[in-house]
Amino acid sequence: MQCEYCQQHISQQLELSQLLWLKPVTPPQICETCHSKFTRINSAHICAGCGRSGDYPRLCSDCQAWQQHRALLHNRAIYHYDEMMRWYFEQYKFNGGYHLHTIFAAELSQTLANKCLVPIPVTKHTMATRGFNQTLGLLDDNLWIVEALRCKFYDKVAQSKKNRVTRLQTQQPFAVTGEVQAILDQPVILVDDVYTTGRTLYHAADCLHAAGVKNISSMTLAR
Ligand SMILES: [Zn+2]
Ligand SMILES: [Zn+2]
Repeated sequence: MQCEYCQQHISQQLELSQLLWLKPVTPPQICETCHSKFTRINSAHICAGCGRSGDYPRLCSDCQAWQQHRALLHNRAIYHYDEMMRWYFEQYKFNGGYHLHTIFAAELSQTLANKCLVPIPVTKHTMATRGFNQTLGLLDDNLWIVEALRCKFYDKVAQSKKNRVTRLQTQQPFAVTGEVQAILDQPVILVDDVYTTGRTLYHAADCLHAAGVKNISSMTLAR
């Protein structure tokens, strides 16, 4: 097994329980050294709104702008969106690297266990071209996942191809599915891969809120 990043051989140590119970083993896609190059966000030094890293009085300037005309969405992110994370998303999302979906599964499972999770959906066009929903892919099957949102349109210009101003002006792209009825009284965590301007997550939160969900926050792998 080779590390996808440094191409070195990965030797895998099986735990005793895996040997005894013949538990299915997911082989690691990158070695421990490369995994340690992803930089965690220190939760003691973040914006209280979007969860971005840094020492802010309370909110970063983006969140101050959001707060001027609406209630703030509280987002937390685990990793910095840095060079290493850019490499990861490039491989995973854009180079057909679905096999890389388990790299963060363990830590996401730890953070999100027993919580009601609504993943941000992808358009039918993305589904047809990429073949998977990258956010759903990050989440382990054992988690409480409710697909309460769908995309209203077949296609949209990928957020990553838009500039900041166009991103912030996009119209509501989501609608709720029938599954929302079961979670109206639950604290719901929206999950997305990356928080960039917040526009996508705010749209998703608005959509759930309009359907009657009262307690909404969000979590992203990177910020
Ligand atoms: Zn490596
Ligand atoms: Zn912020």
